[in-house]
Amino acid sequence: MRQATLKETQRFMRQAYCCLREETVVLTRLPKIKVPLRKGRWRLRQPDGLCETDEILLDYRGEILPTFIHELLHRLHPDWQHRAIYRQERRLVRRMSHQQLTNLLRQIVAESEYRCQKSGG
Ligand SMILES: [Zn+2]
Repeated sequence: MRQATLKETQRFMRQAYCCLREETVVLTRLPKIKVPLRKGRWRLRQPDGLCETDEILLDYRGEILPTFIHELLHRLHPDWQHRAIYRQERRLVRRMSHQQLTNLLRQIVAESEYRCQKSGG
């Protein structure tokens, strides 16, 4: 799989820092969610993150950096299928330098709010 282009990556980094300034990003402990299977059956899954209308929620027990990138891609491309989101997430992470990834993780942690538990969950 190819990496993201330099231009794509730079654009994404700008969007990421802009999101961290302007949106509410919350570090929390997310409740398990029911994922539907066939024939009315379902199973419980632990989400690492959720992208909601007014905020991005990240579970601090999960992989914060790729999850933030993933949820931000949902925000930026609401029309994309999950496969496309995962693909772009991996392409960006491959292209970004250690320094860029470290700086982004620091910024996520610095700008996030902490919440004990997702309200209503
Ligand atoms: Zn997703």
